[in-house]
Amino acid sequence: MIASEAHKADESAELVEFRTRARAWLAESAERRDAVQVSDDALDENDGESLHALETAKRFQAKLFDAGLAGLSWPKVYGGQGLTMEHQRVFNEEAADYVIPTGPFIIGLGMCAPTLLEYGTEEQRLAHVPRMLRGDEVWCQLFSEPGAGSDVASLQTRAVRDGEEWVLNGQKVWTSGGHYSDYGLIVTRTNVDVPKHKGITMFIVDMRSPGVSIRPLRQMTGTSGFNEVFFDDVRVPSSNLVGAVDEGWRAAIGTLMNERVSIGAGGGGLGRRVGGGEFDALIELARDRGVLADPVLRQSLASVYIEERILELLSQRIRADVRAGKAPGPEGSIAKLAGTQLARHVADVAEEILGAAGQAWEPGDAVSRRWTTALLAAPGNSIAGGTPEIMKNILGERVLGLPKEPQVDRDVPFRDVKVSG
Ligand SMILES: Cc1cc2nc3c(=O)[nH]c(=O)nc-3n(C[C@H](O)[C@H](O)[C@H](O)COP(=O)(O)OP(=O)(O)OC[C@H]3O[C@@H](n4cnc5c(N)ncnc54)[C@H](O)[C@@H]3O)c2cc1C
Repeated sequence: MIASEAHKADESAELVEFRTRARAWLAESAERRDAVQVSDDALDENDGESLHALETAKRFQAKLFDAGLAGLSWPKVYGGQGLTMEHQRVFNEEAADYVIPTGPFIIGLGMCAPTLLEYGTEEQRLAHVPRMLRGDEVWCQLFSEPGAGSDVASLQTRAVRDGEEWVLNGQKVWTSGGHYSDYGLIVTRTNVDVPKHKGITMFIVDMRSPGVSIRPLRQMTGTSGFNEVFFDDVRVPSSNLVGAVDEGWRAAIGTLMNERVSIGAGGGGLGRRVGGGEFDALIELARDRGVLADPVLRQSLASVYIEERILELLSQRIRADVRAGKAPGPEGSIAKLAGTQLARHVADVAEEILGAAGQAWEPGDAVSRRWTTALLAAPGNSIAGGTPEIMKNILGERVLGLPKEPQVDRDVPFRDVKVSG
């Protein structure tokens, strides 16, 4: 008996009833994977098709929420269902064969909402989290700058207080989904007289505020999933402060930890885990292209299966910890590193199967296009949320107990630090 079947056998009556309800709702309201017309990738485009796909995703999320199936393990007061991780697992199992268009909500639900839940005010939580869960608000993350990526604490976007408002000036870059987001979590420099980690403040910013300019950046996949975002005298009310002035670094670390869990472990079942659940699709591809019996390919498929299972077990442990109230720790970095390595491995095996069709496919061959897009997206996914080198630094220091990297600017006031821009 495989593991998921064993789970089903000893499920409580309540979980069985929940499974039946989820199954019936999905059959009625969701599209089966094999019947999909518009792919999630279309959201990356800044054209009419993507806006159509965004609207489709929003309508789906609203239906999910209204049916009492969104935010299953989130507190009821913020729009969740107050159920358990087990309910989320059951829902994920039932949803595996369906298109669940969560793409536009991954950053909001996987990173921004957890940050607000931990560091925001009660007003902010009540105002935004239920709307995020219903898909009425889409959020983005405004951390990286041209001179601040891995070392995001070197950021230079300034926020200056002006009465009951703050005025923001600067530039962010690689802002995923910025072009269709309603709000963003932004980290800014509010004090240059203290070391770089100590003068950072986080705000909620309305992406439609006067002075916000969003320009799409094209990736090698051919799509424009991320943007550069300019802030010219953008006014933000003090009520949008997340946490205390000059103490935004802790909240930023919280967002980043959640990001790694979200990318690597599927963030409590809200997001799509990068590199996860593709084994069956690879088998189907190999069968379809007539190479399933190839002995060398079978070795590759077996290694994908093993990596997927290990990552799934690690992800279950991380998600259980998160749901039990533990802040995500360095194991999120393991999942992020492993998940993006696996995504690359899966795409390589798919290309092995596709052969020449991976470089030049017939018009309408959506399967070849999808796998080649996955291959082209793999390097970006490994960089987003922290590069492999940064993940390995974290693992070296926080898991293996190796000496910390030298940080010459750690105690120097930011105004005296040499930063690029
Ligand atoms: C697909 C995608 C989506 C993204 N979405 C967002 C988003 O929504 N919001 C957002 O704010 N940002 C986003 N980013 C930005 C992402 O967080 C940064 O690209 C990432 O943190 C790396 O920063 P950088 O690009 O400036 O590279 P750099 O930090 O300049 O790194 C360059 C190279 O140096 C290496 N390096 C740097 N420091 C060290 C070190 N201390 N030790 C060893 N090696 C090191 C890196 O590993 C890398 O190979 C996204 C990026 C991608 C690719």
